[in-house]
Amino acid sequence: MTYQMIINGNAVSGAAGTFAVINPADKSVLADCPKASLAQVDEAVAAAKAAFPAWSALSIDERRQKLLALADALEAKAPEFMQLLTKEQGKPLKGFADMGAGFEFGGTLAWMRATAAMDLPVETIQDNEVARIEVHRKPLGVVGSITPWNYPLLIAVWHVIPALLTGNTVVIKPSENTPLTTLKFVELANTILPAGVFNVVTGAGDIGAAISNHQDISKIVFTGSTPTGKRIMECAAGNLKRLTLELGGNDAAIVLPDADLAAIVPKIFATAFINNGQTCAALKRLYVHEAIHDQLCAALTEMAVAMKTGNGMDEGVDFGPLQNQEQFNIVKELVEDAKAHRGNVLCGGEVIDDSGYYYPITLISNVANGMRVVDEEQFGPVLPIIKFSDVEDAIRWANNNDNGLGGSVWSSDSEKAQAIASRLECGSAWINHHAMVQPDAPFGGVKGSGFGVEFGEAGLKEFTSIQTVHIYP
Ligand code: ADP
Repeated sequence: MTYQMIINGNAVSGAAGTFAVINPADKSVLADCPKASLAQVDEAVAAAKAAFPAWSALSIDERRQKLLALADALEAKAPEFMQLLTKEQGKPLKGFADMGAGFEFGGTLAWMRATAAMDLPVETIQDNEVARIEVHRKPLGVVGSITPWNYPLLIAVWHVIPALLTGNTVVIKPSENTPLTTLKFVELANTILPAGVFNVVTGAGDIGAAISNHQDISKIVFTGSTPTGKRIMECAAGNLKRLTLELGGNDAAIVLPDADLAAIVPKIFATAFINNGQTCAALKRLYVHEAIHDQLCAALTEMAVAMKTGNGMDEGVDFGPLQNQEQFNIVKELVEDAKAHRGNVLCGGEVIDDSGYYYPITLISNVANGMRVVDEEQFGPVLPIIKFSDVEDAIRWANNNDNGLGGSVWSSDSEKAQAIASRLECGSAWINHHAMVQPDAPFGGVKGSGFGVEFGEAGLKEFTSIQTVHIYP
């Protein structure tokens, strides 16, 4: 299969050549991907700018119909997209609890349809004999979307559908690790959308930087690491770009002694290891009261050792490889550091098969804040379990981190849990669950996890500016 970028409705090769996309299941070259030149970034932005007046002049209903048609067209190609997602990202087609490529693909369709159904009606804040004052929402112009490699298709849709619905045009740059589903998605979208409305350029960080710097881009929506988010924010100053930055997370969960173990163990396991732990809002630090610590460790270990890690294209595989060599190295390094500091590896912790980026599900107890595996985002199949006796310590340790994406409290007493959750420094708090997101509930971080929200009306509004209209008789 050949892959091309789409600029102004045309399929084009990379003027800077190609780069190899690696299949993480066997480290083979999966495809050659076009490498954009800086001139092609300019062309894509110019196309988006030229397409903006006509696209933004359509009614929201007209745009909605096109986006819903795109969801239908994508659904008709489900097998092709799911397989490509497995090959480039590594996640199994089905996987543990059916949370693999099918889950990402299903979520993509659900988000497209739910987001496309939304509206931003004019608000009237005064209507009397003196004046009528209305608040209108206007699109910003060209939106630059920069996406990561953990959920390439789903996060693209999180960025692009609200931008397009509200009347913006888009230039997207997927991660250089997982550009292929995005290229195919934009190609498909261009059979439905007018030329120039939705463009894709592929390449590495230099292409992302060119987008962040571009004077004709009004907003960047970015999901990725905190250091890159900071760089984008510096670039954005040039023309005061709006930003939505969904950055790293190192989510804490606090388990109180009255939690119902049988009920919470499967949920803790699933939300810690969702997408092999490569999820911004996965549960990444587990603080457990000493009264149930050993039991919880034993129950999680029993689940973990039953898991099969392997090539995501094979039947019966629960978890695939990590997506790339760099991430694999980070995970390995953090586990080795924990071992060197007397971390107790309950299961996993050793690489058995290095034909792909395979790392086993790993649980580590006898760890604490101050150790790398706790303080740093592992973004892989590793869960550190920290024992506490006083919940005030647990709250303090949970908050003693630069990140602030999500957090959770697990207890049979919902009120008590909510009171603790309200003290967690994070953008989403869950009681007796974790990492749950849905298209109508705002999601975003605080502290080093970024700012701005995605989803729901609040998320949609981030792709607009306010025009307040004062009408005097
Ligand atoms: P990771 O290290 O996990 O790949 P990054 O935050 O570096 O996470 O990458 C997320 C996205 O940001 C990718 O599409 C990547 O190419 C892009 N990117 C990397 N560096 C920059 C940069 N300086 N400016 C803009 N985008 C960048």
